Amino acid sequence: MKMAEKSPIPVEVTRVVEALESAGFQAYLVGGCVRDLLFGRKPKDWDVTTNAKPEQIQGLFTKTVYENIYGTVAVINEETADDTLKNIEVTPYRLESSYSDRRHPDHVTFSETIADDLQRRDFTINAIAISLSNGAIKDVIDLYEGFKDLDTRSIRTVGKPEDRFNEDALRMMRAVRLSVELGFTIEKHTLSAISTLNDHIKDISIERIRDEFSKILMSKNPKQGIEMLHSLGLLKHFIPELEKGIGVEQTQAHKYDVWEHLLRSLQHAADKDWSLDIRLAALFHDIAKPQTREFSRATNQYTFYGHDVIGSRETRKILDRMKFSRATIDKVSKLVRWHMFFSDTEQITISAVRRMIVNVGQENIWDLMNVRICDRIGTGRPKENPYRLRKYQAMLEEAMRDPISLHMLKIDGKKIMEVCNIPAGPKIGAILHAVFNEILENPLLNTSEHLEQRAKELAMLPEKELKALGEAGELKKREEDKKDVEEIRKKYNVS
Ligand code: ATP
Ligand code: MG
Repeated sequence: MKMAEKSPIPVEVTRVVEALESAGFQAYLVGGCVRDLLFGRKPKDWDVTTNAKPEQIQGLFTKTVYENIYGTVAVINEETADDTLKNIEVTPYRLESSYSDRRHPDHVTFSETIADDLQRRDFTINAIAISLSNGAIKDVIDLYEGFKDLDTRSIRTVGKPEDRFNEDALRMMRAVRLSVELGFTIEKHTLSAISTLNDHIKDISIERIRDEFSKILMSKNPKQGIEMLHSLGLLKHFIPELEKGIGVEQTQAHKYDVWEHLLRSLQHAADKDWSLDIRLAALFHDIAKPQTREFSRATNQYTFYGHDVIGSRETRKILDRMKFSRATIDKVSKLVRWHMFFSDTEQITISAVRRMIVNVGQENIWDLMNVRICDRIGTGRPKENPYRLRKYQAMLEEAMRDPISLHMLKIDGKKIMEVCNIPAGPKIGAILHAVFNEILENPLLNTSEHLEQRAKELAMLPEKELKALGEAGELKKREEDKKDVEEIRKKYNVS
């Protein structure tokens, strides 16, 4: 290692380890952070394990939070800007006993040895501990060949997979999640144990399943993740609705069955690094196609009438059941409800575009466009941004832009009547348009003091002269407005 190279281990973490060691305790980094460090990824959080007991840990740091029944103490770092360092979790060595409910150990026993602590961990790649010296790795404790599994990119349980999944069924979801996050394969005994024990996932709280499921969606390979959940028999326990799309053939532009189409749509959202909401909407947008499919003899095609409306309800039901946040449920079901906005009209009018903005909400409209793009790519059509889509995007911008208008002025007709002491009539409009023209030339003059002064001057002009100035202003306004729209069209390369 070059001397100048910055240690990948942040000083905040080193300080916690050193404080424990100076007080005479052992301290190791362990779990996901070690795995990520050795694999060359940036850790999402830092876990320290020690033979110190919770009260002893708390005694060593100024600000701590005692977290849960497992004895974890979070050491709080308020100064750091890095979220991953704001709280560093320190957990006493633990030994876990029986799990009669397949999710929580019946009781937690603290232990004196790091070996016990490594033994209770889920996968070999998560069961490596490292000690530090001067902020760099000193010793590596790898009792289960985690290093080798990192090297061969393999996810394997610590100990017999059947036992470990029997203890805690969430580990089955974690195996799939880590596999897609890291791009690792699940070792074959581990894999077959999941296939055998998948029923036990029913014992796990839906919130914990949801969190792992969300991480699978947010990984780079969500399509593969969901295929694994399906083939291992896990998916049917929490989103059986998705599997109804398997083998449901479509016609018209579709090459794929509903299931494959939804997964491809989702994968495109991941390829684009789009949000969880977009990924969920891409995954569920055609969820009601299986139950709405009918064959039309007239056209020799399948139809799916109402699948957007029913699908939106279905999506809400699923997300509600999985206890997603209210905001996510509302937004995703809205995106599913309106995902057909585009295909139903060949001849798009600006008022139809405006209606759609009202339906889906201005704040969601661009996400809806992205769901639409996912839908398109998921169909197997190669072009992501064809003319029709770009045209729609241009019209959206046109509908949502702040139009050039007299409202931009820091004066209005009422004020002009007041300061110039003239009645309502065409003269007011002429003055407004005349000052508007001047403001377009020099926006800095758009202040109430200046405009009131100018209005008074304009009001004194002969009628004909003022009328001409007003007309010039009106013309200019129309030209500017046209230019605005042209700019937008140019941006999207449409006419
Ligand atoms: P991430 O990168 O998402 O944080 P992680 O593996 O670090 O992944 P955490 O939930 O932070 O996941 O858990 C930290 C460590 O605790 C794991 O690496 C593993 O050693 C252990 N662990 C977590 N959950 C379990 C479990 N259900 N059974 C056994 N060990 C677990
Ligand atoms: Mg972690």
